[in-house]
Amino acid sequence: SDADSIAYARSLIRTIADYPKPGVQFRDITPLLADGQAMQTVAEALISQANSEFDVVAGVEARGFIFAGAAAAVCGRGMVPIRKQGKLPMPAHRLAYDKEYGHDALEVSPELEAGMRVLLIDDILATGGTLKAGAELMRLAGAELASIGVVMELQGLGGRTVVPETKALFSL
Ligand code: AMP
Repeated sequence: SDADSIAYARSLIRTIADYPKPGVQFRDITPLLADGQAMQTVAEALISQANSEFDVVAGVEARGFIFAGAAAAVCGRGMVPIRKQGKLPMPAHRLAYDKEYGHDALEVSPELEAGMRVLLIDDILATGGTLKAGAELMRLAGAELASIGVVMELQGLGGRTVVPETKALFSL
């Protein structure tokens, strides 16, 4: 069943304690990426959990690229990368945001056109800061945020409050 397939994908997440610093439980997606069945399940489920129609899939650097690309290919839509400032040769829009320590900015290329309906994808919802900034960048570009999707949501970090519309395949 679909639930069994998602449970299987969830079982492949590897947890590394105290990486990259003490106190963090790092959720390593590498074993899931290496499994063809799990990748297919996740790509299809990211599409089917979207709550409305979309024209393009946007993925947030860096692990969001992987799932956004897979999901885009599965449904025959294009993919647009949302990158950290300075990585795209032709940035069209930039959104600066505050992080726990300091500031950062996200950029997108002109292929994201005003009026496009976007499915915004990342691997993990933690504090929600990254997806909130990504969502604001989409709106700044004049795009319509059709849906936000992640593979997994980490509980107890507040992301659900920051981007409440986010859909997750499973939580940890
Ligand atoms: P946030 O902006 O706090 O929601 O963080 C989201 C981003 O940070 C995601 O793109 C994840 O790739 C990464 N991230 C946050 N917490 C973890 C964690 N415990 N394990 C692995 N990646 C994480």
